Amino acid sequence: MKTSQSMSDVQSVEHVDVLVVGAGLSGIGAGCRLRTLCPAKSFAILEARGASGGTWDLFRFPGIRSDSDMFTLCYPFRPWSGAQAIVDGPSILAYVRDTARAYGVDQKIRFHHRVVNAAWSSEEDRWTVDIERADTGESVRMTCGFLLTCTGYYRYDQGYTPAFPGIERFAGQIVHPQFWSEEIEHSGKRVVVIGSGATAVTLVPALARSAAHVTMLQRSPSYILSIPALDPIAGLLTRALPSRLAYPIVRWKNVLIALAIYRLSRRRPATMKRLLRKLMERRLPPGYDIDTHFSPRYDPWDQRLCLVPDNDLFDAICAGHVSVVTDEIETFTEAGIALRSGVELEADLIVTATGLAMVPFGKIGLSVDGRPVALPETLVYRGMMLSGVPNMAFAFGYINQSWTLGADLTCEHVCRLLGHMDRHGYARCTPRAPDGTVASAPFADLSSGYMKRAIDQFPRQAAHDPWLRQQNYARNRRAMRRSPLDDPVLEFTSARATERPGQPLAA
Ligand SMILES: Cc1cc2nc3c(=O)[nH]c(=O)nc-3n(C[C@H](O)[C@H](O)[C@H](O)COP(=O)(O)OP(=O)(O)OC[C@H]3O[C@@H](n4cnc5c(N)ncnc54)[C@H](O)[C@@H]3O)c2cc1C
Repeated sequence: MKTSQSMSDVQSVEHVDVLVVGAGLSGIGAGCRLRTLCPAKSFAILEARGASGGTWDLFRFPGIRSDSDMFTLCYPFRPWSGAQAIVDGPSILAYVRDTARAYGVDQKIRFHHRVVNAAWSSEEDRWTVDIERADTGESVRMTCGFLLTCTGYYRYDQGYTPAFPGIERFAGQIVHPQFWSEEIEHSGKRVVVIGSGATAVTLVPALARSAAHVTMLQRSPSYILSIPALDPIAGLLTRALPSRLAYPIVRWKNVLIALAIYRLSRRRPATMKRLLRKLMERRLPPGYDIDTHFSPRYDPWDQRLCLVPDNDLFDAICAGHVSVVTDEIETFTEAGIALRSGVELEADLIVTATGLAMVPFGKIGLSVDGRPVALPETLVYRGMMLSGVPNMAFAFGYINQSWTLGADLTCEHVCRLLGHMDRHGYARCTPRAPDGTVASAPFADLSSGYMKRAIDQFPRQAAHDPWLRQQNYARNRRAMRRSPLDDPVLEFTSARATERPGQPLAA
């Protein structure tokens, strides 16, 4: 039963065992895990928007696709079938929504419910969650025993656009990819895409199919690696074996390949640089200025390595449909963009693929027993909980592999933790960092602009397990499955003898 009332009216406040925030890939995965691993738990999924799917519903720009393979981006409990490894955004959205329907999780989503505050009370062993309803304007309050945020990592209401001088002078159209809509016409137009990250390299070849010309304008280059959109080994295995056998082999193959590329980049950056350059030399026209346009100043994987399927970006460059310009913007003009070098790029449409605005935990204001939680003062336990914050976890993916690998590991572990608490009659589980644990590592170790701009708002990590989640799915999975749930750094508190009637002991 839904309740809407003034914040002071707590009599009829609805209580659930677990409150999941966000109905994207992670929130729907969390719902499926709760359904199957904790069938007795009541739960609801609160979603700020009017639709599920998160990223895969929000982003509508031409060519939107995965840039990690679907065998690892899919949920392990609902294998991706077929040989197509890189697929378009609508296919991912359909997969996420189909999964929600198959597990009855779609029924659990409450749309237009934005969580603004969550306050933990040790007196009551529960969270009180304040929600704003975007559709009715009402304020709603709910309580829960466990809070699981699946809110992604960036703001939905705005992207990041630097303060470009003279931007107001431009007579054509300017759009940020986050807000692309069907009304934006690019056919036959001269398009400039500003940026060199994953979004830019996805957009550019897609726009080039019908634009008059596309210029990718970058201040500095990124490393780009082409991978086959169709996974030949997956094709072979799915034809030869039943999917229950083929899928884990393909999944683990892809996990290990991604890990090997990451490790090689970290340990032998010079070798990796040479390798990436050789691959590009083969794909780009003879004599192409790779040094200027495709040789970043940083080492591979200091920032995200951009993947393109089947050389699409390089093919578009070879065909003359795309030019890459590496320069700085002096000012926007009426006709386009004037560059530091003195060159002017004329444009009808400018796409600012300049990044996301990162934000931790959906901007939810957390407090514990009346004290606001200062996120940068907390330490991350196993990449999923915060020191000193009881009964709360967050689903976060990897930066070097498919997001789902990390998010699902967390959701599965939360379910194990809930089962453990129930079996022992615990009402509260709080990670406590031992004295002397030093917050020495950032939440995520990338030097990308979007990371640097926001990382100070995020919690921190220490130099060692369990306060450091390494970017290594295989190792983390082993550690989480094998480690005792009674981890000495987790403080478990028993439910009080005088429980409120009708309330579960350990939610
Ligand atoms: C263009 C683009 C391409 C990407 N490609 C890949 C890829 O190929 N592979 C990969 O692994 N990752 C990729 N990512 C990362 C991507 O975000 C993840 O794949 C994944 O979709 C994250 O899912 P999520 O559910 O954790 O977060 P999101 O998809 O961001 O969903 C979060 C949901 O929470 C809701 N929410 C947020 N705050 C609140 C609140 N306070 N109250 C209520 N609801 C709230 C949001 O409305 C949203 O629906 C890509 C990201 C982008 C932007």
